[in-house]
Amino acid sequence: MSSFEDRKVQGMIFNIQKYSVHDGPGIRTIVFTKGCPLRCNWCSNPESQQYGPELACNKGRCLGFDKCRYCLDVCPNGAITADENNLVHVNRHLCGDCPHLCAQACPARSLIVYGAMRRVEDVLSVVEQDAVFYTRSGGGLTLSGGEPLLQHDFAIALLREAKKRRVRTAIETCGMIPWETLHEVSHLVHDVLFDIKHMNSEEHERQTGVGNARILDNFSRLAGLQKDHPILVRTPVVPDFNDNEDAIRAIAQFLLPFKNRVSYELLPYHRLGTQKYHFLDRMPSMGEVQLDKSLFSRLQDTAQNILGNRFIPAGQ
Ligand code: SF4
Ligand code: SF4
Repeated sequence: MSSFEDRKVQGMIFNIQKYSVHDGPGIRTIVFTKGCPLRCNWCSNPESQQYGPELACNKGRCLGFDKCRYCLDVCPNGAITADENNLVHVNRHLCGDCPHLCAQACPARSLIVYGAMRRVEDVLSVVEQDAVFYTRSGGGLTLSGGEPLLQHDFAIALLREAKKRRVRTAIETCGMIPWETLHEVSHLVHDVLFDIKHMNSEEHERQTGVGNARILDNFSRLAGLQKDHPILVRTPVVPDFNDNEDAIRAIAQFLLPFKNRVSYELLPYHRLGTQKYHFLDRMPSMGEVQLDKSLFSRLQDTAQNILGNRFIPAGQ
């Protein structure tokens, strides 16, 4: 495909986040795509899971039906009603087959839509606004999700065009994708961030909805390629899933035979996405549980004892 054609390819994006220092080297712009083959119970971006646009309702911003009724007036399906506090309520069973007219009409941004189609050209024009920071810090663009490689054509076109423009790129993947796609992308990126969540496939399926066989196979094939781009493996440490020595030791030992370009990091579970579940009228599956900080510290020691300086302590 020509550069001209690549620039026109569209992807379903729910966020472009600037000045990130957590998802790849240096200062980065993160492009978040929608759609994911996993359903991790602890997901902090629930709006990333489904492919299409989703209506979100933040009652805290609603002006109240005594002052404003725009959403009520435009809804073609009778899906909008007042709740017991005279604030907006969306009946999700009635909502549908509509270009989110209520969100377009809402003056308070109480109703918004997660997800919109955006062209490679438009996404890169946002990314390139911070080119000076990338040059100074060794940063660039990170393509994340959801699982960004589910939108294969968009991911390839974006990364190819970024490469032409000399923007450094990273991909953040859950690994649950066809090997051919991952292989193709490996020629286009400078860094790979690869999630490995559990070595036990049944446990993996219990908390993510899928087993881990394809993920581990894809990782082994990727790490075995004769390439020089670094691979950072990350494990979100989640209560009642993998917050124990056996689980973390098993992952670290799995990584041990791979070459030095594979490093490892643990990410502590957090509840920052809780509010977004409520905006989507979903219940966060994890409830009120918290990660024990001293346990997390011990698990970091476990990984470091196995992998030495290939383990990167959290926050570094
Ligand atoms: S998205 Fe459309 S159908 Fe759904 S509540 Fe809003 S206006 Fe009604
Ligand atoms: S349009 Fe927005 S502010 Fe007005 S009632 Fe509906 S949700 Fe509330």
